[in-house]
Amino acid sequence: MYKHWINGKSVESRSGQTFSVVNPATEEVVDHAPRGNAADADAAVEAAWRAFHEWKHAPGLERAEMMHEFARKLRAKRNEIGVLLTQEGGKPLIENLDEIEWVAACFDYYAEVGRDYKGKVIAPVFRHQINFTVKEPYGVVACIVPWNYPLLLMSWKVAAALVAGNTVVIKPSENTPLSTLALSEMFEPFPPGVVNIVSGYGPEIGEPLVVHPRVSKIAFTGGIETGKKLAVLAAQNLKKVSLELSGNDPFIVCDDVDLDVAVKGAVWASFLNMGQVCTSVERIYVFKSVADRFIEKFVELTKSLRIGNPMGPDVDLGPMVNETQRRKVETKLERALDQGATLLTGGKRPAQFTKGFYLEPAVITNVNHDMEIMKTETFGPIAPIMPVSGIEEAVRLADDSEFGLGATIYTNNMEHAMYAMENIHAGTFWINDPLTDNDAGPFGGMRSSGQNRELGTDGLENFRDVKHVHLDYKIESKSYWYPYKWK
Ligand code: NAD
Repeated sequence: MYKHWINGKSVESRSGQTFSVVNPATEEVVDHAPRGNAADADAAVEAAWRAFHEWKHAPGLERAEMMHEFARKLRAKRNEIGVLLTQEGGKPLIENLDEIEWVAACFDYYAEVGRDYKGKVIAPVFRHQINFTVKEPYGVVACIVPWNYPLLLMSWKVAAALVAGNTVVIKPSENTPLSTLALSEMFEPFPPGVVNIVSGYGPEIGEPLVVHPRVSKIAFTGGIETGKKLAVLAAQNLKKVSLELSGNDPFIVCDDVDLDVAVKGAVWASFLNMGQVCTSVERIYVFKSVADRFIEKFVELTKSLRIGNPMGPDVDLGPMVNETQRRKVETKLERALDQGATLLTGGKRPAQFTKGFYLEPAVITNVNHDMEIMKTETFGPIAPIMPVSGIEEAVRLADDSEFGLGATIYTNNMEHAMYAMENIHAGTFWINDPLTDNDAGPFGGMRSSGQNRELGTDGLENFRDVKHVHLDYKIESKSYWYPYKWK
């Protein structure tokens, strides 16, 4: 049985209640997690608050050693945690093993970046003044995480928050709490209370964390509706908040590229983790002159993808995370077809599985921007493909969105690439290599896809406040003090 991690100890939920976590591939219960409520939120925040007063003064090198130690411990348990991630989330094991390495790398990265700089020296306005800024932590940060990359999206918050001198309370998704709770012992190198982990449902324990008077900042990744709700709660309580929200990413294919490569990139970026990636490709715009060939190859490759038990081997796609998500995607596909879209392949529940939330990836055409499927996030394996007359139409349609998380273009034409880059709102713009992240580069969304950035030095600043220090090294009376000399 899994437990909360509060003040450096494994503890049950205050109510003693638990909830079951279901394996989406088998529909069997993997294990149980504590069902936390306001009392658990309070215990975790109080522990984090007490630990903060020491932790904020810890030297960067000391913090860095603990961060690296965490990364070492995690790498040593890579297989065990990878299996758990697969059992609770349904992504293929091979992807989960990658996720764990990315988490360790993120901790290693921030361990060093966190001790690099702490402010800047400012040019003074008068003689013998010295002006500088000091970057300071906010205090207790509540890190609220979704289920699609439970550990990676945790690490982007927690690693940066810790090296900035904050203490944290982590709240994983109720779909995938086990792999996060399993990290508890790996946080042992940190002083008690610096890292706390609690699990449960959003309204029951997430909201009490958000409104807790001792929480200074909320770092949230999740859906847009939850994000809006938390933004209102944060505003009412005057708390800092960073939001990584939904996307509806476009993917442009120009007529000058090797179509085999562009198709492979597009299929992978559309169906990775069953399309349950915030930067999944959700809309494909392909130049008319190559559209027929692109679509034919895209369908062929999609049909060849191997769906099966995510523990593998020889599996490209596992199940969706749960029945609700699968049903949402099926309903969205039905509505698109009702509105006139044409289904080229997929969209059905594969006959070979009697259990598990499996779904064949779908490819559709005859779509336009009046359709819901092109306007809203699907977060599932549907790839709508729309032929366009050229770069102007492709860019205009790609940017015709409420969202702005990521965007991709495939082209060797520098003019096309730069025109698209300058005119599409996107926190990340990929040219010929979709969906890759870089710990040192900022990640986040424009427009309704979010506020602030994670990763890189922008991601560190996300967890630091700034103090301006003004110093005069020569003590003397100032001419502008009382009594005023009227001219
Ligand atoms: P979600 O919004 O349902 O849940 C996210 C987290 O918020 C969970 O831990 C949940 O328990 C918690 N939560 C829910 N209601 C809450 C409340 N009232 N108060 C406090 N916490 C609450 O999202 P999800 O279904 O877990 O994840 C899918 C969504 O996440 C998609 O829309 C996807 O685009 C988005 N996402 C965004 C990024 C990004 O970096 N922009 C990355 C991954 C996923």
